[in-house]
Amino acid sequence: MLSDPRVQLLVAGLAPEYVKSVIRAVQAEARAGDLGPDEVVEMARLRLAVGPSSLRRVLNATGIVVHTNLGRAPLSAAALEAIEQAAGYVDVELDLTSGVRAARGRGALAALRSAVPSAEDAIVVNNGAAALVLATTALAAGREVIVSRGELVEIGDGFRLPALIESTGARLREVGTTNRTHLRDYAEAIGPQTGCILKVHPGNFWMGGFTAEVAPAALATLAVPIVMDIGSGLLAPDPALPDEPDAATALAGGAALVTASGDKLLGGPQAGIVLGEADLVQRLRRHPLARALRVDKLTLAALEATLQGPPPPVTRYRSADSAALRERCERLVVAIAAGAIAVGAGSGAGRLVQSSGRVGGGGAPGVPLPGWALELPSGCAAALRVGRPPVLARVDKGRCLVDLRCVDPTDDHLLAAAVLAALAADSGERD
Ligand SMILES: *Cc1c(COP(=O)(O)O)cnc(C)c1O
Repeated sequence: MLSDPRVQLLVAGLAPEYVKSVIRAVQAEARAGDLGPDEVVEMARLRLAVGPSSLRRVLNATGIVVHTNLGRAPLSAAALEAIEQAAGYVDVELDLTSGVRAARGRGALAALRSAVPSAEDAIVVNNGAAALVLATTALAAGREVIVSRGELVEIGDGFRLPALIESTGARLREVGTTNRTHLRDYAEAIGPQTGCILKVHPGNFWMGGFTAEVAPAALATLAVPIVMDIGSGLLAPDPALPDEPDAATALAGGAALVTASGDKLLGGPQAGIVLGEADLVQRLRRHPLARALRVDKLTLAALEATLQGPPPPVTRYRSADSAALRERCERLVVAIAAGAIAVGAGSGAGRLVQSSGRVGGGGAPGVPLPGWALELPSGCAAALRVGRPPVLARVDKGRCLVDLRCVDPTDDHLLAAAVLAALAADSGERD
């Protein structure tokens, strides 16, 4: 099989052992009777054609900007370029002028400090959860973390904040009630065992009605370091997202440390960011765990370029102009109507409808992002997912909505072709 020309064409870019393992697996399927003898080469060819990595680019037509299942923030062109630069040998820990070792990631850290001038220092780790683990470990391992019962949340995929904190060896000291926590609740809990107070922005969940929480400014009177997990990574206030906490405001309001993710509203690579008081950040940096949580050169490169380059896709998509989205959607409707008859889907297969996008990733949960979508027969969602390129539409009350918000306009022609193919597959299914 290795010498079959159809296989030979594909092996050049692949590890020989990988090629052999794919072929062996296909042969085993044939021996087990799951595959006909004449299908063996074709099946091996199909699997090898995927290439050395199985991750595939997907068009996000859900209207959800930060979609965790789709890898959260798509990177900016500036970040991609920086990654390419950093992929080989790079001066990540070396000062080229003096020839001596230099602080790792100093460019990304300087970019963070200049984006948030009220932060005296910064550190970057693997993700938001790691930032929180490092902060609570360094400040409170073997001691207590005071946290409101209204903020003991599960964030996603079974990730529970209380469990994460307790895994560091810190003890949780819960205060207040689910709906209301007061300054005196925190004050009464403070003692010699206190390591820090933790304020968590619950992100994907919010409360209304008879509720009360304590602002960081009030907590700052308590003479205990306040760690604020803002989650989304907004560095400065954004009028479009009035309820979303940001790092600058949290620090100005009395937080000693702020932790956040790099790949949510910040729009960068997966990373955890800690900003705040110099002596505390230094304690985190010196903690042995910091070495285990540090990020690679590619992350540092992408983060710095995200901060210093043009607005990243997440920023563009969440503020996309509704009229411009409508115009693109109308063009898509026309393109599809023209092609739909040819694929047997009939005219009127795609309809322009209003559609509300979302920030996603636990950001601004109650804020709709007004836009437009193409409504397709509900069966199209499955066909779109397995198309080329795969398209993830939003299924809402049995409708398949193709929302253009998070599709780059330069990909509109790919989207049109994928929709037509899905219509053809769907109408074939129904015939
Ligand atoms: C997303 C989030 C986290 C976890 O961040 P990751 O980058 O996913 O590890 C922690 N806290 C809050 C409030 C979040 O929104």
